Amino acid sequence: MRIYVDIDDVLCETAASLCGLAAREFDRHVEYENVRVFDLQQVFCLTDAEMARFAVLSHEPDCLKNFPLTEGAVEGLKSLRDAGAQVDILTGRPAASHQATEEWLASVGLGDFKVEYVDKYGRTFARHPDDPATVPLAALLQRQYDIAIDDSPVILKSLAGWSDTRVLVFDRPWNRSFALAPNMTRVIGWKGVLAACLPQS
Ligand SMILES: [Mg+2]
Repeated sequence: MRIYVDIDDVLCETAASLCGLAAREFDRHVEYENVRVFDLQQVFCLTDAEMARFAVLSHEPDCLKNFPLTEGAVEGLKSLRDAGAQVDILTGRPAASHQATEEWLASVGLGDFKVEYVDKYGRTFARHPDDPATVPLAALLQRQYDIAIDDSPVILKSLAGWSDTRVLVFDRPWNRSFALAPNMTRVIGWKGVLAACLPQS
């Protein structure tokens, strides 16, 4: 069994942390439960200039390394691996975030999982020669995964065509209005992930 697992808001509490950043740095006060769309510029009512600064601040190593773990994520990933699954961590973060991302994974005990940077959102970022290669979305969709776990409605739209892959929609406020495709199942937390992936356990 080969499984794709996202990082932000699947392994860690990114949006909740960014609500804190928006409050501290931009005086925008939005409760996590009220993050109903995936576009944070819209959520926090940021001007283009504010959004540019928000994007920089939210990708600072100190920010990325302080995202709290999602409950059950570490045990969940290890359970999947112990059950014989090949688990690939596939993030839409820019490859430039690799050092902070990999330090965070190591700090929570997930340093031995493979992580790759996928151009999930068609964004272009400045690239340093030492950054790992970014996987194009089209290349990701050529791969064979039995299960994919993600929360972003943007990538979920692309995964709707991945008919041989069972897509687990990690329940978050911003994906609750997303219309699930036939290959999709909504899961609540890591208990839900494990129940879907390892139903016999
Ligand atoms: Mg995510």
